[in-house]
Amino acid sequence: MGHRLIERVESMKDWLVEIRRTIHQHPELGFEEVETSRFVSQWLEKFGLQVEKGVAKTGVVGLLEGRAKGKTVAIRADMDGLPIDEANPIPYASKIRGKMHACGHDAHVAILLGVAKFFSPMKDQLKGNIKWIFQPAEEGGGGGEIMVEEGVLENPKVDAIFGVHVYPFLPVGKIGIYEREGLAASDRFTIKIIGQGGHAATPHVLKDPILAAGHLITQIHSIVGRDINPLESGVVSIGKVNGGVAFNIIPDEVELLGTVRSLTHQVREELKLRIEQVTRGIAQSFGMDYRFDYEYGYPVLVNDSEMSTLVASACSRGIGEENVEVLKPSMGGEDFAYYLEKVPGAFFRVGIRNEQKGIVHPLHSSHFDIDEEMLPLGVEMFVRIIDQYLGLGVT
Ligand SMILES: [Zn+2]
Ligand SMILES: [Zn+2]
Repeated sequence: MGHRLIERVESMKDWLVEIRRTIHQHPELGFEEVETSRFVSQWLEKFGLQVEKGVAKTGVVGLLEGRAKGKTVAIRADMDGLPIDEANPIPYASKIRGKMHACGHDAHVAILLGVAKFFSPMKDQLKGNIKWIFQPAEEGGGGGEIMVEEGVLENPKVDAIFGVHVYPFLPVGKIGIYEREGLAASDRFTIKIIGQGGHAATPHVLKDPILAAGHLITQIHSIVGRDINPLESGVVSIGKVNGGVAFNIIPDEVELLGTVRSLTHQVREELKLRIEQVTRGIAQSFGMDYRFDYEYGYPVLVNDSEMSTLVASACSRGIGEENVEVLKPSMGGEDFAYYLEKVPGAFFRVGIRNEQKGIVHPLHSSHFDIDEEMLPLGVEMFVRIIDQYLGLGVT
């Protein structure tokens, strides 16, 4: 059977490439994935799945109910592109100016459609159900959270869920899996230092928020080094500083925007607390007011150890143990975390790097591309994972 599995997946390759390129040429931003969503549901309907549209605005859910009762396993892809101008001189480059699939979500969609194509003629052999979740707005919009709120993990109740992301740090042919924590909680903050502006030649009668902001920037960056256990992980970065209008004017206020990353609840809360304490202290020392706004973003993505082991073993059966790598967590964020808060599952990576083809660029780069050899491999990995989870014996 293993031989037939690979044959069936390999025979899909041209189709997968075409699907991926079609999506790649027509990128849509978060919650605007109208065409992508229509494209996805048309294929799912063609495959004879039960299809639900308009979930979380542009999300699509497909369901294949097996003849025999069993567990329900879900797989998920994100559909949104990014506000980037594609710089690749390729025939299938983005046709939409200022928008690009620079995070590989086009590949995720193609792979999931490939899995649907694979299992759809097998309803009779299927014990249990397979659910396909195509969500909008992973890139900051939290589409996954809304999908969960709108009940995609119910009816039928999902027992386990698996998600994938392309990975430019792994060569094509390899996959990577996180044992537990995979991606960080990613929050953002906005700090306003409120001074008192006026002529820059008379600072003694004013309150200079630029100087205070300078101290604050330095001190905020020492929090991770001095308040967090060195064996834990945390990042605090300031990405934007707003303030001032001219060389000879001290402004009334300065605004700092930043991001906070952590892998545990404890570090997350500690960082939030310390950033505000430091801000208060600096503002007080300069006799100024401040405003502190903290916005919680995606939670930590935590794989279920048993499900990670299942992914590793199912994938090893296809590509060999030597091609399955255990990955260290990354401080990036991923809204697949919301599904994993509700049901056990695992998030894994598929290598897309190919130095010979010049495919070496990071995610979110205007030069980003994937080695399309990864498409059938991605399908095969999901087929093996589903097969092992539902105990079908396809492989
Ligand atoms: Zn991304
Ligand atoms: Zn992504």
